[in-house]
Amino acid sequence: MIARSPADWQAKDAQAEPWQLALQKVITDSDELLALIDLTPQALAIDRRQTFPLRVPRAFVARMQPGRADDPLLRQVLPALAERRLLPGFGNDPLAEAEANKVPGLIHKYHGRVLLIVTSHCAIHCRYCFRRHFAYAANQPSRADWSQAFDYIRGDDSIREVILSGGDPLSVPDRHLQWLISQIEAIPAVSRLRIHSRLPVVVPQRITPALVALLAGSRLQVSLVLHANHAQELDDSLATALRPLRHAGIALLNQAVLLAGINDEVEALTELSERLFAIGVLPYYLHLLDRVAGATHFEVVEERVHLLRAAMLARLPGYLVPRFVREVARAESKVPLSPVPI
Ligand code: SF4
Repeated sequence: MIARSPADWQAKDAQAEPWQLALQKVITDSDELLALIDLTPQALAIDRRQTFPLRVPRAFVARMQPGRADDPLLRQVLPALAERRLLPGFGNDPLAEAEANKVPGLIHKYHGRVLLIVTSHCAIHCRYCFRRHFAYAANQPSRADWSQAFDYIRGDDSIREVILSGGDPLSVPDRHLQWLISQIEAIPAVSRLRIHSRLPVVVPQRITPALVALLAGSRLQVSLVLHANHAQELDDSLATALRPLRHAGIALLNQAVLLAGINDEVEALTELSERLFAIGVLPYYLHLLDRVAGATHFEVVEERVHLLRAAMLARLPGYLVPRFVREVARAESKVPLSPVPI
């Protein structure tokens, strides 16, 4: 499971930056969260015995609508009793990542790219997360142990792209990121670096001038894939934070997850796409839910998914309609939603 508390460096770092302080002040208590948005626990079916605990930054809470038990941001983070429901087809490793975990810290699923588990830590705990049961304890290499992952990449010339993932890779300090990136840069066949992160969305202060300089200065072609599911998550502070990255030539993409009761309405999805593009981010993927244990209540039936895609195509230019995909264990790539007549 994802680490319960911030990594040691965060608590000990006397020179903590504003984003690090924000991570130290995340909300982990449901009563405190509900009090901040004028709700009482009685209004919600909360699970207080979660092994995947509540964790949400205050900046994200500030974007919730007070008094709304059905707020789409609140639903993404509040542990619900519905998470205890077990259904066939839902499991702890829905994408069979354990089989692709070739060496500690490295997952090799698809041709030409590998994924590094930079950290187990996240700024926010998303209730639908497909890695909520991931074996992080076995994937936390020390600096010395990372050499296995770099040797693996060096040993396969087909690997052109390295993806930093986690946990959230931007939750580690820049000095660690810098070290990792320099190790990747030293592998001649690798030309692209992709970072998958939700941190800039939930704590926009994470995009510091130092981070921009680090990414812009790499010999690798860098892209940043954000993770936002609802337009309400995208406020002006994020728009401002992303601007220097855009100006530095970093490709900005978004992947969202289709979530029942959160964004499974055509208005919500079109607004998300339009807002993303307005702040310079291309709406790239809309993932169907990964069938992870604890997330059954977020699944959208396939018939509805097709209707939503058709409605988006009818309303938006093609470049604002994300690719509707699902991840299938052991498949050679993400699988696009098949076209069907409506
Ligand atoms: S930020 Fe990403 S890895 Fe972390 S809990 Fe959310 S979805 Fe999972």
